[in-house]
Amino acid sequence: MEIANGIYSLGQRRGGRVHAFLVDDGHDLTLIDTLADDDARRVLAALRHLGRSPADLRRIVLTHGHRSHLGGLAALKRMTGATVYAHAWEADIIAGERRAQPVTFRPTRPVRTWWRIYHLQLGINFGLKPHVPCPIDVAVSEGDAIGPLQVLHTPGHSPGHLAVYWPERRTLIAGDAIATWPALAAGWPAFNLNPRQERASLRRMAELDVAAIGVGHGEPIVRDAAETLGRVVGMA
Ligand SMILES: [Zn+2]
Ligand SMILES: [Zn+2]
Repeated sequence: MEIANGIYSLGQRRGGRVHAFLVDDGHDLTLIDTLADDDARRVLAALRHLGRSPADLRRIVLTHGHRSHLGGLAALKRMTGATVYAHAWEADIIAGERRAQPVTFRPTRPVRTWWRIYHLQLGINFGLKPHVPCPIDVAVSEGDAIGPLQVLHTPGHSPGHLAVYWPERRTLIAGDAIATWPALAAGWPAFNLNPRQERASLRRMAELDVAAIGVGHGEPIVRDAAETLGRVVGMA
C-alpha cells in the first residue's frame, strides 16, 4: 500500500500486525524497520513488486530494538549491504549484546482488546525467539538527516526510539510511539517504558504538518491524520 508518493507500507500478522515502510526518494530505497520474519521474504517480495532489486536498498533505519521490527535485519544486511541506522541507545540490543528492557507483566484493560498482545509482553520479558543479531553502522539522533528523511528522537516507548519525517511528502513514520492495532493508542500501554517522555514525544509529533502516518503496529493512518494524531496526544 502506497501511503504517500513513494512511501510504501509493508505489514504482516505476526509480531502484532507489525509494519515496515519502504521509501523511494527517486534515487535510492530506504527501509524503515524490517518486519518479524528472519528471512525478510515480505520485504524482498515488495522490492520485486516495485521492479527493484535487493541492491537498490541502500539504507535500513530501525525505529528501536524490539523483536518484531528486527526480524529481517541480518538477512537484508547480508543480501543488500545496506547501511544500518539506529539510535545509539538501541545499538547493543540490535547487535545482540543486551536484551531489550523488560516491560510490565500486568495485562492492559480492557483485557478483551489487549489480550491480543499479551504473548508479546511475555516474549519480551523472557527473551523468547530472539532476533538474528546485526551490528548497526551509523548511530543517529535528533536533527540528523537520512536522504530526504528527518530523524526525530522520540523516547518513551524505549529510550532510543526514533521517528522519521519526510516534510515534502507530509509523512511521519511514528514507529511504536503510536499504534492502530489492536486499538488506536499512544503506543501499546504495557510497553511504554516512560509515559512522561512518551507524552512529550507525541506532543512534538503533533506540531508537524502530516497527511499520512505510518505506525509500528496496525494499519497506517492515511485519512484525517492530523486530527487522529491530536486524539492520540489526548490519550497519552
Ligand atoms: Zn516496540
Ligand atoms: Zn513494536
